[in-house]
Order: sequence, then structure tokens, then C-alpha cells
Amino acid sequence: MKITDMKVAIIGNHPVVRLTTDEGIDGIGAAELAKPYLKPMIEFYRDMIIGKDPTDVERVMLGIRRMGSFKPWGAAVSAIEFALWDVAGKVAGLPVYKLLGGKIRDKVQVYNGNVRFKLEGVDPEHYAANMQKMKDSPENFSIIKQGIAFHGNMASDVEDFYYGTPSTRLGGRHPNRGLITYKGFNHMLACIDAMLEVCGDEVGLALDCGPGFTVPDALKLAKALEGKNIMWLEDMITGDYTPYVLADLYTQVTPYTSTPIHTGEQIYLRQNFVELIERNAVNVLGPDPADVGGLAEMKFIAEYADLHGILFAPHGTVDGLIGLAAHVQLAAVLPDNYIAFELPNGQPEWWYDILTGLDKLKVKDSHIDVNDTPGLGVSFIVEEAMKYLREEDAGFFDD
Ligand SMILES: [Mg+2]
Repeated sequence: MKITDMKVAIIGNHPVVRLTTDEGIDGIGAAELAKPYLKPMIEFYRDMIIGKDPTDVERVMLGIRRMGSFKPWGAAVSAIEFALWDVAGKVAGLPVYKLLGGKIRDKVQVYNGNVRFKLEGVDPEHYAANMQKMKDSPENFSIIKQGIAFHGNMASDVEDFYYGTPSTRLGGRHPNRGLITYKGFNHMLACIDAMLEVCGDEVGLALDCGPGFTVPDALKLAKALEGKNIMWLEDMITGDYTPYVLADLYTQVTPYTSTPIHTGEQIYLRQNFVELIERNAVNVLGPDPADVGGLAEMKFIAEYADLHGILFAPHGTVDGLIGLAAHVQLAAVLPDNYIAFELPNGQPEWWYDILTGLDKLKVKDSHIDVNDTPGLGVSFIVEEAMKYLREEDAGFFDD
């Protein structure tokens, strides 16, 4: 079997990959909603995969994996990997989880980092009201993540939150960093306490914090929250769009607190997790399959983390519905250090009209049943999806 073409279209805002083969079976993959600019980067790999056997997923990946990097650039390689598994699963007549080693659970837990309501302000009562809305949402989430400090508006909207000049000029990609003031620290704690009160013992609270914390502040916050219902403190020091790891800095925090410390969403490839894992620099890893290099990459990292007592909570907030299907297949096979993955959704809403298989991806009590549809489990309804293709992508569904 041979790959005959790789097509890329921007559908909604997602770069979407479609592999075609000489046996008429195709496969799809997608990158995050926030990355329409990746189209030429994905197309860059076309000549490196055409003519290869898509069912030898690893051999194809060996040819392109080295030509990627940390977020956002690993997404191109990852989207192709999703599509390879989709083809391989369809050819075998098996869901992807069977090809990844077989499932160890029949339903997978999800957490909320995506079902959002407008935060009406940056005071404790606003965080509490917002948390209540998320707690009341029909998915009945068991874990809810909220952005605080440098992740979100707290650092820029609370006056004198930190000793630095807040900037939003980089389009909200968390550009701020610095030592937090006494006032800022107390404000942050008051907001967390207000959310904890709403969560009670029914919902675990995860906090997306940065990047932007200094080491002393990271330890100070972690220690202040000990004994409370905190699932993890995410990306305090490094994180979204940080193109390096700095495990050394985490080793100055994690061993000295009982509050779980988390990072990893921007990191590309298993090799870049070795230091974090072998030095127990964090308690929870949260790579994103659509950034790290794909599903097999996630499986390897999760297994290696498990051998070191590190938990696993995949990132995925804007991975879209193709990403959702991939997350479910992956979460089914991850070892018992798996907590939950971050549930993505379809934006715009018409994404729910252009794919089959979505009825099998419904959330009930913070879980999704693992389905047995061959491949990733979702396919385009071509005549519906055609309505949303851009003119330059008109040939996306051609053979
Ligand atoms: Mg995050």
C-alpha cells in the first residue's frame, strides 16, 4: 500500500490533513484551532511521505519526525501521524487503540479546560461565579481547570500584580513573567479559595498558572495550597510556547511540596521529557498529542513516566473534534497513571454537522465510552464539509 497524496485544508480554523492511498482508503488528522498558519509547514512534508506505506506508521514517522520542533511546529508532524493511524486502522478494520497495544479501559475520563463562560472580572466572586457555571455544565466534569496569574488576565488586569510591566502585545500568548507582589499573591489565593469553595469535594480544581512564575513564587504558591483540593499547578515556570524545558527549575519546587506540579503541553518528542521524568521534576505531565509528535509518542512518554511515579493528563483544549476522536483512542491504552484528558470541542458549531461518529463521543459524567469504529472513529460527510472549504482548498476531497 502506498500514500498517493497528502492534502491540507484550513477548515474553520483547523489545519486538516487528508492522506490518500493507492487502495482508495484515506485517513484524516488535524492540528489545533489556533494554528491555521501551519498549512505550508504541513505541506513541507509531502514529498517525504508520498510513496511510503501508511500502515508502517513508525517508518513514515522516522522520515519526518526530526524535521519538527516545540509548539507550534510539532503540530504539523502530529497531524500527519493522526492521519497515518486513521489509514492503518481502516485498513486493518480495527479502532486505533487496538494498534496502539489494546485498551485497558472501556471509558475514558475527561477534564474541563474548554467549556468556558465569560469571566466578568478578576475578583474572587467572579472566579467563584464562573466556576459555578462550569460545575453546572451538563458534562458533569470531575476536574475543572481555570487560568490564574500569568495565564489569563489576572497578571495584566490586577494592578501591581507583579514587579513587571504587563504586556498583551503578543496576542495573549502568555508573554508576562516576574516576581509576584504581596498584594498580587494574596489576590490570587483569595480567588483560588473562592473557587475551591464552589468545587467542594465533588470537583477537583486544576490551575493553569503561567508560564511566568519565578522559582520562589512557584514554591510559595504550592506550599500555600497544600492540603487543599488542588489536582495540579500547571505550567508555572515554563509552558505554552516556551521552546525549552528547564527541568532544573522544577527540581527546585516539586520535591519540596505535596501540591502536584504539572507541565509539558508545548514539548515536542519523547527525548525532551527524559530529564523531567528521570529527575522527577514534576508530578504530572500534560503533553498534547497534536503537538508532541502524535499518539505513539504520547504512549511512550506515559509509560516511561509511569515507571517513575509520574501521572499523566493530556492537554487538548483546542484540538477540535478530530483531535477528540484521537484523544479517546489514546486514553484507552494509557497506563494507570492516566488521570483525564482535556476535552476539546467543535468550533464553529457547524463542525458537528460535517463529521460522522460524533454520537459515540458524547460526554457523560465526565467520561466518554471507547468506540470500536475502525481508524480514529470520525470521517467527513463530504457534501456537508465541502460547504466550508476555502476556494484554494476546493480539491481537498478529490482522490
Ligand atoms: Mg496549559
